[in-house]
Amino acid sequence: MKNSPYIGRFAPSPTGPLHLGSLVAAMASYLDARLHGGQWLVRVEDVDKDRNVAGADQHILASLQRCGMQWDGDVTWQTQREDLYQAALRQLGDNIYPCACSRREIADSQLRLGQAGLPNLVYPGTCRDGLAPGRTPRALRLRTPQEPHCIIHFHDRFAGEVSQDISAEVGDFVVRRADGFWAYQLAVVVDDGAQGITDIVRGADLLDSTPRQLFLQQLLGLPQPRYLHVPVVLNADGEKLSKQTGAQAFDNGAPAASLLGSALLPAARFLGLQVQADSIERFWRAAIPAWEALLRAHGETPHRP
Ligand code: GLU
Repeated sequence: MKNSPYIGRFAPSPTGPLHLGSLVAAMASYLDARLHGGQWLVRVEDVDKDRNVAGADQHILASLQRCGMQWDGDVTWQTQREDLYQAALRQLGDNIYPCACSRREIADSQLRLGQAGLPNLVYPGTCRDGLAPGRTPRALRLRTPQEPHCIIHFHDRFAGEVSQDISAEVGDFVVRRADGFWAYQLAVVVDDGAQGITDIVRGADLLDSTPRQLFLQQLLGLPQPRYLHVPVVLNADGEKLSKQTGAQAFDNGAPAASLLGSALLPAARFLGLQVQADSIERFWRAAIPAWEALLRAHGETPHRP
């Protein structure tokens, strides 16, 4: 990585307490920022107001601090930044159109087209030339080029070269949802751009979203950050670990010594970091060079400040 300013971030959704899965993403982004002498911002992604759990944001922030992960600057909340999303929507202009389709209708059309096995629900473009008479607009969608197809390539620092044909694999995608909430894809791109994020380190479950985000960055004239997607923690049934799939909540009341063994060391082990430590402070001192070694094993030559 070149010697350039580095601004990274951790962007938790406040849907519950921190757990091993989200701690892994927080740790990887924190270590990468600290190794590169960069800033590490925390942004609470609370646009999906139906999924927010009261107090979860403060609980997550307290957990980060208990783990010794201190962020730079002020924490931001997406619900306080809605003017920015509105401005981006205006900037996207005619690329945006209202859509009346429900998920059910889109799934049915996918079935009719024989595309039932695709990982994403591909929007068939029903409303892109206008709503049929009597249909009520629900979501707002972003037009993706049809001819030639919209193939987005990027380099992921762990996954290598990634490409996705957005038109064929996703279709025109939602930027404001039927319930009126801003879509994650729009909010994350606008915020990463506005906060000058240069490096995104997050879970591999979002690898599939990255091409949509690059496409939005291009339309909004935003610079493209570097990406690194770390493996996601799965439960015994092979599902992404979350509160719903049985993750154990981070205990902010646990003594510091037990956090090391119950949270920090397991997260580091999951990332493949060779770390031994008997205090939180020594943990971070050992984890930064261990992260550097991991990057070297992935073929990078990290530039320490
Ligand atoms: N808010 C997202 C989540 O908690 C992460 C978004 C991102 O890192 O881009 O899954």
